[in-house]
Order: sequence, then C-alpha cells, then structure tokens
Amino acid sequence: MQRQEPEGIVISCDFCATDWDQVRPMIEGHRGSVLCLDCLRQALDQTAPAAQDFDCTLCLQHRPAGRKHWQRDKAAVCYDCIRLAAKTFHKDPDIDFRWDPSRYPPEPN
Ligand SMILES: [Zn+2]
Ligand SMILES: [Zn+2]
Repeated sequence: MQRQEPEGIVISCDFCATDWDQVRPMIEGHRGSVLCLDCLRQALDQTAPAAQDFDCTLCLQHRPAGRKHWQRDKAAVCYDCIRLAAKTFHKDPDIDFRWDPSRYPPEPN
C-alpha cells in the first residue's frame, strides 16, 4: 500500500506492513497493493483453501471459498497471484529466490 508522508510517498507491504527500503524485493498489484518477498515465501509455505470467499488484495478478483490462498490480517492473496509473484521473483537474477513450479501446479477450474 502507499501512504503520503511529509517526505513523499511511502510504499509498504500490504501483508506485513513493512515499509519499502528500496532494497527489499516487492511486487506490485493493482491499486498500489504490494507483496514483499518474505510474505511470498510464507504464502508458498502456507497456501491453504479459503474458509470463506475473499477478494485478492493484489488482483482484486473475488474468489470463492475453497480456492487456495494465503491470508495475513485483512490482506489475502489468491493462488494465481502467489504463482505469478513467485515466477516474477524467480526470473530476476538480482533476487535470491528460486522456486519449483512443479510443486505448485495450477488449480483446476
Ligand atoms: Zn510483507
Ligand atoms: Zn490475486
């Protein structure tokens, strides 16, 4: 998320609320939403079916109960966004993150 401070706009992770320090890898979703790499790692580890329907903080899509997701406080990220974020971090040679996509197959529709 973004907020206006006297020094300018501050970007922070919507999930852990850590302010961006210009170094920490983060990924942007819609409407200024942000997921940091630490939270992505947790999301990959703790992906679970949603107990109730939810709106993804990153893509803003409404997802029905039962779809895989990761939630922290009021923020939730859908499985599609988790996979997309992992793919994006993986591709960046400057970021120390690799994943095994075969462990995270797409969800059947
Ligand atoms: Zn975070
Ligand atoms: Zn999403």
